[in-house]
Amino acid sequence: MQIYSPEQKVNHPFYESKKVHVYLKRDDMIHPFISGNKWRKLKYNLQKAQQENKSTLVTFGGAWSNHLLATACAGATFQFKTIGFVRGEEISNPVLNMCKLFGMQLRFVSREEYKDKFQLFEQLENKEEYFFIDEGGASLEATYGCKELVDELKDEYDHIFCAAGTGTTAAGIAQGISDCNLNTQLHVIPVLKKGGFILDEIAKFNSPTNQIHLHLDYHFGGYAKVKPELIAFVKTYVKSTGIMIEPTYTGKAMYALQDLIEKDYFPKGSRILFIHTGGLTGLLGQLEKFN
Ligand SMILES: *Cc1c(COP(=O)(O)O)cnc(C)c1O
Repeated sequence: MQIYSPEQKVNHPFYESKKVHVYLKRDDMIHPFISGNKWRKLKYNLQKAQQENKSTLVTFGGAWSNHLLATACAGATFQFKTIGFVRGEEISNPVLNMCKLFGMQLRFVSREEYKDKFQLFEQLENKEEYFFIDEGGASLEATYGCKELVDELKDEYDHIFCAAGTGTTAAGIAQGISDCNLNTQLHVIPVLKKGGFILDEIAKFNSPTNQIHLHLDYHFGGYAKVKPELIAFVKTYVKSTGIMIEPTYTGKAMYALQDLIEKDYFPKGSRILFIHTGGLTGLLGQLEKFN
């Protein structure tokens, strides 16, 4: 599948007044449902599943998971059946309903059972036909897909920004920066509390960490948690740029970028690339917070 993810300059008086150049890599435009980094993370996992003649993708996520929806749609597109284990009691919401529409079989499991994903997989019948994909799509193959983002770049940048959940995307980008011998610094914004573990995750994938800067103070209370200043920022950003972001991932990372520019963290003339990792369907569960 050919993908389209342009690099675009964002013209904004704030960036102009600070004399920095901010660009977006529009991974959100890759696909409406296999969005952003989730496409990149699935790519080589799906190839492996095809080579191993697996019939079914089995994966895991929370009730608003961008990864579950991406896997459901990718399964439908590339002729795999899909099973999604969902954390917590049975509920219905727009994201899960779209998963079902793409043919995913949902299995709700308690938070306790959810902890041991491999055990859940092992308990399945016909598991020889099944292909295991971890929560969030995290795997070494996923980092290979994310690395390609760097190979695609048409320009050079002093800084790259991205949000992190598992750190897989950041690991791939760090590998790409190193393989291309770039001096680019990678700024990673964990969206969970105590995000220091992201560096260990990146190292586990054998990606270099020497050009990585973790910014740990932009989690706003934890995963999918928000604060009024984050909501206010997302509102202002969306209406002053016409670019949609959401508060779980891209909103937090974009807030961090804004805050660091505000504090004159970057020298004048810096060229900064923000990876729009997509995931806009997550907004469906957050819209009431914007009232
Ligand atoms: C899943 C997701 C991330 C986190 O990616 P990791 O590779 O798990 O760090 C970031 N942004 C969006 C929009 C996502 O959906």
